Amino acid sequence: MRTSGVPETDVRRRIATDMADDVPWNRVLNSICTEPHPLGVEMAAAAAHTNLGDVRIFRGTKRIERKVVQLLLDLLGHPGGGSGSLVSGGTEANLIAMLVARETARARGTLTDRPEVVVSSTVHFSFTKVFGLLGLTPVVVPVDDDLRLPAAEVARRIGEHTVAVVATAGSSEFGVVDAVDEIGPVVRGRNVHLHVDAATGGFIIPFARELGHDLPQFDFSVDGVDSITIDPHKYGLANVPAGAILFRGAQDAGRFAVDSFFVDTPVHNTLLGTRPGSAAISTYAVLEHLGRDGFCSLTRTNFEVTAHLVAGLRAAGHELAAEPQLNIVVVKMEHAVRISQLLESWGWIVSTSKRFGETLRLVVTRHVTREMVDEFLPVLERARRE
Ligand code: PLP
Repeated sequence: MRTSGVPETDVRRRIATDMADDVPWNRVLNSICTEPHPLGVEMAAAAAHTNLGDVRIFRGTKRIERKVVQLLLDLLGHPGGGSGSLVSGGTEANLIAMLVARETARARGTLTDRPEVVVSSTVHFSFTKVFGLLGLTPVVVPVDDDLRLPAAEVARRIGEHTVAVVATAGSSEFGVVDAVDEIGPVVRGRNVHLHVDAATGGFIIPFARELGHDLPQFDFSVDGVDSITIDPHKYGLANVPAGAILFRGAQDAGRFAVDSFFVDTPVHNTLLGTRPGSAAISTYAVLEHLGRDGFCSLTRTNFEVTAHLVAGLRAAGHELAAEPQLNIVVVKMEHAVRISQLLESWGWIVSTSKRFGETLRLVVTRHVTREMVDEFLPVLERARRE
């Protein structure tokens, strides 16, 4: 650290210089995060000092966390019930879900010395971290031809060691929604926790269904669903790192409870001790301001832009690797890695898969417009020809 500080203007300039190197959103086609809503940003800045780990001081902010949890439970088919916490993104949410699943099995007396979790081969890699940390063994079920976790196979793989099944509502690689409405009934009644990772789909599927898109039901309205991960900081337009873990059971969020050293300080139900109140405030601001109508309108635009991109790609002779269910478009492409690197050198960011061969993955999130797509398509063709 320097001995004497530099003036504020100097600090601002240096930070602006480094941040100018970040890629602007209008060149980003690989991210499930997006530019947060200006109201969320403003309110998060006002709450920059708040810490949900100290609820004696930040009791008003804690009240807002509880309101956000209720709003999310309401969005996900469990109005007026359940429990949950705001956490740091999808990884912490998935970790807490698996911890609660393990502890529920322990409380039931069904926990064995080799607890297993049934997952699909496309489950998010955050579970690899979670299973390593919690000593859980994944039982990996290959996805079917539609890239979904097959319910019949889930039923077959549940055994005496199974503590949980994980379904995904909006996979990272393809945006595929597992048939949770078929998986729920095969898990129900088997003393196994069913977790739905809707980190990405949680802020699209409910509104897309409202708009008439044919997508499976994936939330607490499906019997058997015990917990759901949903990430306001992704398609929910809230500030990073707003994540949430929600449970059907009113007591379930409390199954992971660690006491603090001090009198009158409530137990912690989350892995993180210090938690940014700003993420809760930002989420509350955006949910309240946009409401269902606002999110439906964003989702309608999202699907229109996705269709526009798909039409443009097809018109240029491209073949999709799968029909998009949500807003992720995966295109078959020879020399995909070289093309992606070339695009990046020209300022455009796309993804290429390590597991699905020669493909480019394009994410149509909230900042992707028709104009941006129209700008991108000729650049893609130029990159292919180089
Ligand atoms: N689950 C899914 C389906 C995801 O797509 C992601 C991130 O992309 C995560 C979990 C992990 O979320 P985070 O990166 O916020 O920890």
